[in-house]
Amino acid sequence: MNILLLGSGGREHAFAYKIANSPKCNQLFVAPGNAGTASIATNVSLGITDFPALKSFVLDNAIDMVVVGPEEPLVKGVADYFADQEETKNLPVVGPKQLGATLEGSKDFSKQFMQRNNVPTAASETFTKESIEEGLQFIKSQKLPIVLKADGLAAGKGVLICESLEDAENSFKEMLLESKFGAASDKVVIEEFLTGIELSVFVATDGKSYKILPEAKDYKRIGEKDTGLNTGGMGAVSPVPFADASFMQKVEEKVVKPTIEGLEKEKIDYKGFIFIGLMNTNGEPYVIEYNVRMGDPETQAVLPRIKSDFVDLLYAIGSGKLADYSLELETFTATTVVMVAGGYPGAYPKGDVISGLGDSNGSSITFHAGTTQNEQGKVVTNGGRVLGVTGKGGSVEEALSNAYTRVNEITWKDVYYRKDIGQDILNYGK
Ligand code: AMP
Repeated sequence: MNILLLGSGGREHAFAYKIANSPKCNQLFVAPGNAGTASIATNVSLGITDFPALKSFVLDNAIDMVVVGPEEPLVKGVADYFADQEETKNLPVVGPKQLGATLEGSKDFSKQFMQRNNVPTAASETFTKESIEEGLQFIKSQKLPIVLKADGLAAGKGVLICESLEDAENSFKEMLLESKFGAASDKVVIEEFLTGIELSVFVATDGKSYKILPEAKDYKRIGEKDTGLNTGGMGAVSPVPFADASFMQKVEEKVVKPTIEGLEKEKIDYKGFIFIGLMNTNGEPYVIEYNVRMGDPETQAVLPRIKSDFVDLLYAIGSGKLADYSLELETFTATTVVMVAGGYPGAYPKGDVISGLGDSNGSSITFHAGTTQNEQGKVVTNGGRVLGVTGKGGSVEEALSNAYTRVNEITWKDVYYRKDIGQDILNYGK
């Protein structure tokens, strides 16, 4: 098959790695890709929301399937676009149509979907500028801390956990009256604060059948022991010990099944991945959010653990034949350590030459994110999160040791990474 993959992050390098390793892949194109995808596929400089340009490329290059990495093209309707055009109406696209993508694009929509379909989630109410007084009254009637969420996409920054009433009231007013998150905060969801341990569960679906992929835990903060600013993600571990068989059974019965049934009942055409952010509260799962694509960096730990053919999986999703696919998983643990440019998540330099990038081997894989090649052909930094190194091992210790061994061989000016990825998992239950 000839496949076009959209995106340029570590997640997309992990997709490209799995696709390129499948005997079912003939040619793989990545738009726009990074230096890592360039080494295993053909990068093409296309805008991922320039739908007519994507269509021309698909037709000119006899593309058999389009795989969408990030949420932006999905929320903008890339899957609808291909389905609506005569020449591409039968092209399998891995990624939901716009209505399904609203599960990530609007927190209010996703909360209402969960409530309608009895998916366990934190209690919440949604307010707008017109109902600001009711919202302020509602905040007063709730326990602290309280969670405020901008309804729309806010680059992962639209969630505020307010410890005091004053903070909650001020932030609520700033969101609605001063557009703190632009148009994304024209609506605000006020939500009960959940306590527990967070994890990410990934589901592949064609809208009728589903397969539960390996779960993962990610590390969001820049500093060790989860301190400092939020980032896109500094590391990931899969599997997760607090997602044991009985908990995952509850996730399937109480969360995954009602979600897929809800999609079908509501005629939401969904062919793609659902990333479910969950809280394990005293052994019970509660959904924090849905994302309509895989997570980054969780993908870099999750995909290496898929043993069965990955292109077959993608094609089964995109062509609506997932019921016939047999998912097989690897038993090893995968741990991903993200290496970032000094200064990230604030301002950071670009163009620093990366040294020590060897080939991936049996015990570790180096996934590129913010990288490119300079005029001399050297791989240089080109973003905040630069690389994600995934270590594999029979135990969390071994996987971490393999990841950090590789990380220590790679360097550039002012490189930074967390040294405590997976430490909480090593200590879990001790
Ligand atoms: P989200 O953008 O919805 O993933 O939220 C970002 C982060 O805020 C989550 O990963 C959680 O750590 C936290 N969060 C969101 N909603 C809640 C909640 N209801 N209770 C506790 N923490 C939450």
